[in-house]
Amino acid sequence: MALDLFLPDEAATIRFGEDMALGLKRGDYVALSGDLGAGKSTFSRALIRAIAGDADLEVPSPTFTLVQSYDLRIPVAHFDLYRIADAAEIDELGFDEALSDGICLVEWPEKGFGALPADGITLTFLHEGDGRRVTIDAPAPALARIRRSLAI
Ligand code: ADP
Ligand code: MG
Repeated sequence: MALDLFLPDEAATIRFGEDMALGLKRGDYVALSGDLGAGKSTFSRALIRAIAGDADLEVPSPTFTLVQSYDLRIPVAHFDLYRIADAAEIDELGFDEALSDGICLVEWPEKGFGALPADGITLTFLHEGDGRRVTIDAPAPALARIRRSLAI
């Protein structure tokens, strides 16, 4: 099952992240695919700030640390796997624990070498003109929750 949305500008990506925050729950794994600059980190920052209820919360990119964890109403672990060398590192980063505690957002899931769940929510961001298009793939129950949170 899939949905897709056109995000004309950065503000639309931020609104999308804020709305998605309402539809996610503990145990949700969200894979974020798309080229450099497609909007994965913009989306993640907006989602984390919305769950925190703090529009100014510092949300650094996990590019170098590989994961940044946020102890919020629902804990969020924000991963960027671009620099991992092999799948064993995903274990070492505490992915399973983070998923049992809360929400896992994963940039560059392609680098996970099959060590990540196959039944997650996948967002694929693409450049389209000056904006972006995002496709949402998820199992039917998760997609229904997301659809409600986006009011579509
Ligand atoms: P990624 O993490 O995928 O590499 P980032 O979120 O870091 O991408 O960067 C995306 C860039 O594109 C930022 O400069 C952001 O302002 C911009 N951007 C985000 N969403 C949109 C959009 N829907 N339309 C146009 N520009 C966008
Ligand atoms: Mg990024």
